[in-house]
Amino acid sequence: MKTLFEKIYDREIQADIIHHDAICCAFRDISPKAPTHILIIPRKPIPRIGDASTADQEILGHLLLTAGKIARELGIDQTGFRTVINHGPHGGETVPHLHVHLLGGRQLTWPPG
Ligand code: AMP
Repeated sequence: MKTLFEKIYDREIQADIIHHDAICCAFRDISPKAPTHILIIPRKPIPRIGDASTADQEILGHLLLTAGKIARELGIDQTGFRTVINHGPHGGETVPHLHVHLLGGRQLTWPPG
């Protein structure tokens, strides 16, 4: 049974995909929390960051490098941005397929809620 995000990666469910390669894809969040809100997901259905292993090292590095690349392409690297990975109930995770949130385009507050 595929996860929602696997179906988006495989283009079986529509999403506003802005990047797609053999390891990951990136698309606009359906409920954006900032003017720029992108999700970067691995093709491999790793449920959440705490479930990743050393075998996933290249994938995890690729997700973050892709986040930086997209931030530059969307022009938010100079003003700044935030990457977030939610794990489990207290982290606010709602989709059990690892994803990096890329948020920018406004002043983000700290600490997060
Ligand atoms: P999290 O709460 O960290 O698990 O993040 C899941 C994110 O997925 C939320 O920000 C949702 O708005 C987003 N989301 C859920 N379904 C879709 C979808 N079909 N297309 C794009 N984003 C989605």
